[in-house]
Amino acid sequence: MIFFMPPASKLIIVFLIVSLSFFILLHLNAPCKSLSDFIDSYLKLWFWQIWCNSWHYFPSRYLKTQPKLQPSDWFYPMSHMNMTMTTWSAPIVWHNTYNESVLENYYAEHKITVGLIVFAVGRYLDYYLADFLMSADEYFMVGQRVIIYVMLDDFSRMPLKYLSRFRTFKVFEIKREPRWQDISMMRMKIISDHIVDHIQYEVDFLFCMDVDQYFQNNYGLETLGESVAQLHTYWYRKNPISFPYERNQSSEAYIPMGKGDFYYHAAVFGGTPTQVLDITTQCFEGIMKDKKKNIEAVWHDESHLNKYFFLHKPTKLLSPEYCWDFQLKQNSDINVVKIGWHMKSYNFTRQKL
Ligand code: UDP
Ligand code: MN
Repeated sequence: MIFFMPPASKLIIVFLIVSLSFFILLHLNAPCKSLSDFIDSYLKLWFWQIWCNSWHYFPSRYLKTQPKLQPSDWFYPMSHMNMTMTTWSAPIVWHNTYNESVLENYYAEHKITVGLIVFAVGRYLDYYLADFLMSADEYFMVGQRVIIYVMLDDFSRMPLKYLSRFRTFKVFEIKREPRWQDISMMRMKIISDHIVDHIQYEVDFLFCMDVDQYFQNNYGLETLGESVAQLHTYWYRKNPISFPYERNQSSEAYIPMGKGDFYYHAAVFGGTPTQVLDITTQCFEGIMKDKKKNIEAVWHDESHLNKYFFLHKPTKLLSPEYCWDFQLKQNSDINVVKIGWHMKSYNFTRQKL
């Protein structure tokens, strides 16, 4: 019938068909909440179509202009009995508070690479590294591109393991500090240096983790954020007055009694490379200023990390399910443990080789 129509009507019908297909494509990609939202997106789409002047740019080119993922798209704070939001509106992620498929669909269109940096020096290398790496391969950011940065003091003892597709190791040899406290604290400096040198160009998000722990369930996209902190297993139900913050006023890590929001565990922290760089440089500055005054904060780098997050609130918190000590009896609010601590064997692991 369309063949017998006058040319002007043909044009109108073609225009309507094209508009309708635009509408369907647009709505499938990003459902619009209101009419003005739709008109706005629709105009942008036409703009892109004219700008690109070619269909093959659509939709990936257009999708890059889509708004960022909002917490309300994937995070369900009401679905957990515990606190799921901080006073500064950062999500506290517990198992069952997030929608994995929304996150997976979003990141399928917005490809990312996630870095994971781990230190294994002295006995920690032989004792924990292989387990950490194998469990990370199985559970950490499954389906995403991952680079694991391994910092060790002896290349020859690097466990040789195969990683799954999209995963790579980068192994670096570092100097071994004589004291275990310094091995732990110097991580802040080494992480900063590597972010500046290369990591900032290689990943979109970066996690820094202790090696004396293992993944045992999916540790996924729900954990990504600009600045991510881990709630400490021992202190998440306690009153801030009892937190083991540094209380010496002369230390850079000092937090006054009664102040502070949470006690964070230094075994896991992360964020965007720029943000992690800020965390590690500021913590290292604090550590060095203390050293000049002959002070060492009570929990070393962890005390400085707590001070940092006291001054610069993290944008996402992870529940203790993300780093749980099985030596404690399992609390009723701990449903699915993602990372478990290994048994501490300080007498052995902290001995000189
Ligand atoms: N570490 C290491 N060798 C050492 C001491 C520490 O490789 O001799 C690294 C390792 O990644 C370890 C982290 O620093 O997990 C923090 O130390 P540790 O786990 O002993 O501290 P804790 O968890 O007991 O606070
Ligand atoms: Mn540890």
